[in-house]
Amino acid sequence: MQVSGNVLVCDSIDQVGIDSMKHAGLTVHYKPDIRPVELVSSVKDYDVLVVRSRTKVTREVVDAAVQAKIIARVGVGLDNVDVKAAETKNIRVINAPEAASIAVGELVIGLMISLARSIPKADAETKRGNWIKKDLMGTQLSGKYLGVVGVGNIGRNIGRMAKALRMNLIGYDPYPINREFISETGMIITDLNTLLESADFVTCHVPATPETKHMFNSERLAKMKPTAYLINTSRGEVIDENALYEVLKSGKLAGAALDVFEAEPPTNKQLMNLTNVVCTPHIGAQTKEAQELASRVIAEKIIQILRGVI
Ligand code: NAD
Repeated sequence: MQVSGNVLVCDSIDQVGIDSMKHAGLTVHYKPDIRPVELVSSVKDYDVLVVRSRTKVTREVVDAAVQAKIIARVGVGLDNVDVKAAETKNIRVINAPEAASIAVGELVIGLMISLARSIPKADAETKRGNWIKKDLMGTQLSGKYLGVVGVGNIGRNIGRMAKALRMNLIGYDPYPINREFISETGMIITDLNTLLESADFVTCHVPATPETKHMFNSERLAKMKPTAYLINTSRGEVIDENALYEVLKSGKLAGAALDVFEAEPPTNKQLMNLTNVVCTPHIGAQTKEAQELASRVIAEKIIQILRGVI
């Protein structure tokens, strides 16, 4: 069944979703560089608004979207969409929660190994002509304890991957955790303090909420072992970056890998410049496969909603 309506795609998304929306009968305007002022003035003509992370769907945008039925985020978190404002206007807000979980999981494994074996430093020094083999005594992942904070889609995927690397799993989540996953991986469920005190690697996968803001503050970071590493691929505001700088600088924590930052692009240069910090520019979901899947899933959901199926 064909559907009709105007779709505004505000950020770059994989072509596959655009093609399937057009194929279903929708008129798709692709404006991946649209500025906020142009968005507010033109959004009134659209039934569907599609965004990734760049575009902020503020209350002002929602108020101007007088004929909108759907706001779609081609990704996981909805922190760039004013969901409450949309709900009060009966606009459906949708996302693609599982599309990125393999991509983020694989990045976390890469970051853990980068930290454990100092790969970024080894690469930079070798290319500079410095043979610093004796300074690069690493640590193995096998047999170590991985603490997973937030055992949702991504946290569970990382648990499975880490299990294959023969790591032991500890998990913390205030909400019920999938029982099959626990019995499959043998993850030990505990409170946050015990996890922080016990883990050799801690990886964070919580949503950005008022409760998770600065959940890694100086008090919590002080509970971690001085030999431990912290990895954050969730949202930047989950870590107090100044507190993280202090524990890393003073040797109270061995290292950290950050894909997300309190400000993006990051402004905390003193933290980024530490040699025991590995940084990537929010590339957790940045694989061809994850972007294709997210775009396809979102297009399919939009078509089904407009058909009245879901
Ligand atoms: P999810 O909703 O499947 O899992 C989140 C888990 O966190 C849930 O199990 C929830 O119960 C738990 N949680 C909520 N509050 C908590 C708290 N206070 N303490 C501990 N756990 C808590 O989400 P997901 O798909 O696994 O995504 C996790 C995070 O990764 C999100 O912040 C998302 O925005 C981020 N993400 C980042 C990238 C990237 O490019 N780096 C890509 C995709 C997702």
